[in-house]
Amino acid sequence: TEVRAEPELTDGFHLVIDALKLNGITNVYNVPGIPITDLGRMMQAEGMRVISFRHEQNAGNAAAIAGFLTQKPGVCLTVSAPGFLNGLTALANATTNCFPMILISGSSEREIVDLQQGDYEEMDQLAIAKPLCKAAFRVLHAQDIAIGVARAIRAAVSGRPGGVYLDLPAKLFSQVMDAEAGRKSLVKVIDPAPAQIPAPSAVKRAMDVLKAAKRPLIILGKGAAYAQADDAIRALIEKSGIPFLPMSMAKGILPDTHPQCAGAARSLVLKEADTVMLIGARLNWLLSHGKGKAWGEAPKKFIQIDIEPKEMDSNVEIAAPVVGDIGSCVSAFLGEIERGWTAPPSAWTDAVKAKRDENVAKMAPRLMNNRSPMDFHGALGALRTVIKERPDAILVNEGANTLDLARGIIDMYQPRKRLDVGTWGVMGIGMGFAIAAAIETGKPVLAVEGDSAFGFSGMEIETICRYNLPVCIVVFNNNGIYRGTDTNPAGTDPATTVFVANSRYDVMMQAFGGVGVNATTPDELKRAVDAAMDSGKPTLINAVIDPAAGSESGRIGNLNPQSVLKKK
Ligand code: ADP
Ligand code: MG
Repeated sequence: TEVRAEPELTDGFHLVIDALKLNGITNVYNVPGIPITDLGRMMQAEGMRVISFRHEQNAGNAAAIAGFLTQKPGVCLTVSAPGFLNGLTALANATTNCFPMILISGSSEREIVDLQQGDYEEMDQLAIAKPLCKAAFRVLHAQDIAIGVARAIRAAVSGRPGGVYLDLPAKLFSQVMDAEAGRKSLVKVIDPAPAQIPAPSAVKRAMDVLKAAKRPLIILGKGAAYAQADDAIRALIEKSGIPFLPMSMAKGILPDTHPQCAGAARSLVLKEADTVMLIGARLNWLLSHGKGKAWGEAPKKFIQIDIEPKEMDSNVEIAAPVVGDIGSCVSAFLGEIERGWTAPPSAWTDAVKAKRDENVAKMAPRLMNNRSPMDFHGALGALRTVIKERPDAILVNEGANTLDLARGIIDMYQPRKRLDVGTWGVMGIGMGFAIAAAIETGKPVLAVEGDSAFGFSGMEIETICRYNLPVCIVVFNNNGIYRGTDTNPAGTDPATTVFVANSRYDVMMQAFGGVGVNATTPDELKRAVDAAMDSGKPTLINAVIDPAAGSESGRIGNLNPQSVLKKK
């Protein structure tokens, strides 16, 4: 009898793993369940880092911010139907924010789903995902897995980055094929985000506009942070002498304490500038759409650097559109500046500096109060010092007043250290962002959370403890949404915006073996955060804030529709 060697086989599980690993994707943010439980196990067995969460939206938010921090698509892995839908919220949010991310969801049997015969977790996931992300693909055959993964990676990171959905039906994972053919099917994505060089004529047009400016301003957005062109951006700003205004997640590309930073003179520079150069920032609601009261009466010219051509003229006329990647565009401008440039009039730069110094001085005494219960300024004054002393720590921030006030008060010193609610101003990113920030960077993370915002992802403190991550969460506990003082005028139910008074979020952390601290003064708060950052132990500090402190909706109360009838 002759002995035949069994042909070596591979299967769908292993092809997914091999395809991701070949492309340098080694971290996966996951919630296990049918049909991807074994995939997660096998990934871990193959040396990938698989972080298992308690809810898919948080795993998805983690993947999204991993993409922002690394320029590689963050990968979230979920089960079908409800798990997929939970992850989809994060995928849509990633797309809105231009973060590269891939949501991989298992799905049910095509034949049954398409005939709507009622499969386990039946849902046409591909069709549902499509309008909410940048691209969506489904793989039906094991030999196509590598191409599917390659397309997903390229779609996520090339051009304007965004979210990609990859649908992998349950049956695919156990499909087998010859191992050698499987190896040959793998695709390494070459140059996934190719440089996009701006047209010289576009750069020239923009330089002409910039040179004619009397009161120029540069606005840096989170696209500029994402681009990792930090040295070139800094050189452009310093050599041109133009004041700059960082958007929230662009804080720290240059330090907020930089002499040219106009962060503390925001109202003035938006009103008074005659020429505004946007670098990786959109003229959306966060910049009042480039018009109206916030932008003053004086006519303005806009120069916009963006990789997405359709972004131009989205809200107002762009006098000089420059389409390309920020690294290439900023280098081109630097070259022009070095060829000849006159600094902006000192009347302008001095006025910006004077306003900024005035505002900083006005704020200073409020940040030093040691009142108990704390107000926002006292508590944030303490945290401001923490970040000043530990500039490489990552700050995650969400809430209403907790967000708006922290953004203004806590100075940032390094790029991509401030992660927050982004373009949608969405609550619920906190623990997902904090976990991925710790995993991807290895740096200590300080998450400053409103008590309401924290609730959206709070169960992930178990995940933080399980993986023993260096995350310190500070819950600004003022007993409610916006404030803790509302009353119900007509019944015994609590008012719609209040929580259980004097809750102890720190005790939750202790339940999972983490450190929990109750802090009632800024001094106590500072000591507790320092201890957490020094030890690297998962910590939650319940910061007791005056329930009457803060305002409705923080700084965006104007977005609340008003009832005419309510007004007397
Ligand atoms: P912010 O909210 O901070 O103003 P936005 O998210 O609104 O920032 O804008 C970011 C912009 O940056 C988007 O229009 C996006 O197309 C652009 N962008 C992202 N990455 C790059 C890049 N590498 N090169 C050029 N533009 C980029
Ligand atoms: Mg609150």
